[in-house]
Amino acid sequence: MIEFREVNKAYGSFQVLQNINLRIEEGEVVVIIGPSGSGKSTLLRCINRLETISSGELIVGGTPLHDKKIDINRFRRDIGIVFQHFNLYPHKKVIDNITLAPVKVLGLSKTEAKERALSYLKRVGIADKADSYPSQLSGGQQQRVAIARGLAMKPKIMLFDEPTSALDPEMIGEVLDVMRDLAHEGMTMVIVTHEMGFAREAADRIVFMDNGQILEEATAADFFREPREERARLFLSRLI
Ligand code: ADP
Ligand code: MG
Repeated sequence: MIEFREVNKAYGSFQVLQNINLRIEEGEVVVIIGPSGSGKSTLLRCINRLETISSGELIVGGTPLHDKKIDINRFRRDIGIVFQHFNLYPHKKVIDNITLAPVKVLGLSKTEAKERALSYLKRVGIADKADSYPSQLSGGQQQRVAIARGLAMKPKIMLFDEPTSALDPEMIGEVLDVMRDLAHEGMTMVIVTHEMGFAREAADRIVFMDNGQILEEATAADFFREPREERARLFLSRLI
């Protein structure tokens, strides 16, 4: 579903991603961890081409993203992304936040889009908030709206960049529960998170990054039993 082949990414002379090789299969849940500034967000953002790569090849769902000629809007429909800050439209009701893209981009009728939005709101447990405004919701509820909004496009891949980092501790669980369900349903997911309990339990694979490189890639079971890399061990020992 996703393949990085010797991908490099630079901002000017600064190498953010160095020789990234990574293959993610359909239905796989991959958690990316690593210190702040190690390139996790950049790697994630390359997958839906919010960032362009400097060299190498990146193929997502059969589309070669290094090819400048691709229809990027067509491509992006299939990739949902959820950020740390929920990025909901504050002046639109929850339901309208969710129906916007399916109507505009997929061409669904308003009725179809509304039905679809309600079904996803139900799945994330907040169907009763359809007519509320984002500011009337807790952070955890807003993030669940953001996830429902992503799912309403029926994407092939969901990307998450620290989706619980801005939440109060008591709301982290409700968002992770939604993500765990998605993982069990077979969604292809790439998740940047510091929630190691979740990673251990929900991830098929852990990718540990440092200084723009993938230092270690292992099954969650192997990684949490004993990381091979000293820096990964150090990173974990500081977190847990
Ligand atoms: P992480 O998500 O692991 O914290 P990022 O991918 O956000 O790391 O950033 C990796 C490095 O790239 C950091 O050193 C950051 O300062 C730098 N960086 C990120 N975005 C830009 C940008 N637009 N221009 C220049 N440097 C950037
Ligand atoms: Mg980041």
